[in-house]
Amino acid sequence: MKYKFWFIVGSQLLYGEEVIKTVENRAREMAQMLSQVLPVPLEYKVTAKSNEEICQIIKEANYDDSVAGIVTWCHTFSPSKMWINGLANLQKPYCHLATQYNKEIPNEEIDMDFMNLNQAAHGDREHGFIGARLRLPRKVIAGYWQNEDVQKKLGTWMRTAIGVMVSRSLKVMRFGDNMREVAVTEGDKVEVQAKLGWQVNTWAVGDLVKEMSLVTDKDIDELMEVYKASYDIATDNIEAIRYQAREELAMKRMMDRQGARAFSNTFQDLYGMEQLPGLASQHLMAQGYGYGGEGDWKVAAMTTIMKAMGENGNGASAFMEDYTYHLVENNEYSLGAHMLEVCPSLACNDQRPRIETHHLGIGMNEKDPARLVFEGKAGEAIVASLVDMGGRLRLICQDVMCVKPIMKMPNLPVARVMWQAYPTLTEGLECWILAGGAHHTVLSYDVTAEQMRDWARMMEIEFVHINKETTVSSLEKELFLNDIAWRLK
Ligand code: MN
Repeated sequence: MKYKFWFIVGSQLLYGEEVIKTVENRAREMAQMLSQVLPVPLEYKVTAKSNEEICQIIKEANYDDSVAGIVTWCHTFSPSKMWINGLANLQKPYCHLATQYNKEIPNEEIDMDFMNLNQAAHGDREHGFIGARLRLPRKVIAGYWQNEDVQKKLGTWMRTAIGVMVSRSLKVMRFGDNMREVAVTEGDKVEVQAKLGWQVNTWAVGDLVKEMSLVTDKDIDELMEVYKASYDIATDNIEAIRYQAREELAMKRMMDRQGARAFSNTFQDLYGMEQLPGLASQHLMAQGYGYGGEGDWKVAAMTTIMKAMGENGNGASAFMEDYTYHLVENNEYSLGAHMLEVCPSLACNDQRPRIETHHLGIGMNEKDPARLVFEGKAGEAIVASLVDMGGRLRLICQDVMCVKPIMKMPNLPVARVMWQAYPTLTEGLECWILAGGAHHTVLSYDVTAEQMRDWARMMEIEFVHINKETTVSSLEKELFLNDIAWRLK
């Protein structure tokens, strides 16, 4: 889906035609100029002067699937009671851009006509009040519209709004059920669908096996060429790779047929399959599909959404698992990996992922599964985990700093990422555990914690952020107050 945003400018009739014409021309010019630097187009729609015009444009925005949100601004004053009926029905992400057409107060030119035309300083406050009064989930971005940081903020928010749109129409294909006895991967699918829009349904592994039998050698040959172009083949077991290609094509076909963009499976349910999908899942993730291991459909869906929120609509975001620690004092790290399935979008840019085959003891693998092995890149990142608290969803996000893995680990047969966590690995861990964060996360290098906060606000779910400033006592207090607030909601 190619998304766009609508620029809706507030005004009123009492200014007269000339002022309104000037506002329209300027708003159109602003939208055109901004569209050149924003990740998706901002389309000027209307300078709204009445309740009817506002209601009409918001109805149209709700109806048009390609509109991912509205951006409002008041060049002149727009009495906010005329916005109430429209905003009460708004179903799309909403950003209030508090800006001004001109950058400077023109010393010589300024007179009362100028003042009447350039009223954003009070127009935007009147507009802001009604958003607060109606308790609307919204983003407020203030600053001069040609400033790079304002444009960057708006662009980042747009990508977050696209994450909202992706969420609301997301279908998740579960191959089999969750891993037996695991608690955190469970959740209320009805609540999730009502709140986040996800359609989470199950397909039998037998259906997948049947689909795999329909994949031809020619199809596999073609996909093998794609693998060879992107990865180094570091095994003689070509049949194992071809088997993964068969699995990938079958899963992709089943998902595409249903319009699903995320999937989960579990090593406990591979009846009729020779290998747990490793390379297959990794290459699907590289194409923007979300994945969760052990039947973790929540992390699968979050991976899809965060990929869509990243750079170019398929950023460096991946299903991740905290695996093991390095607990040397003042030199503490978490080692993240999974049994097989780590997305190559995390790979260090200076090395090509290798396709290797190794024995996998866990699960029902008859054959050694092929998987991509690589090191994750260094850089600032976040990890995010969505948990079901019973009656509400909580999104937990933590800032981390990924490093080049401090040891080679030549016998580790899986892709690996290493990071330090904020405020420190151990205090961050205490916070994470207190908040109920899962062992599975989405790790992302290009989606920010601010984006996740904005996303959670738009989805109307709880958000907890563990960062440099967080302490155990501050977090405990926050969780306690959140618990009360969400029970009252
Ligand atoms: Mn796992």
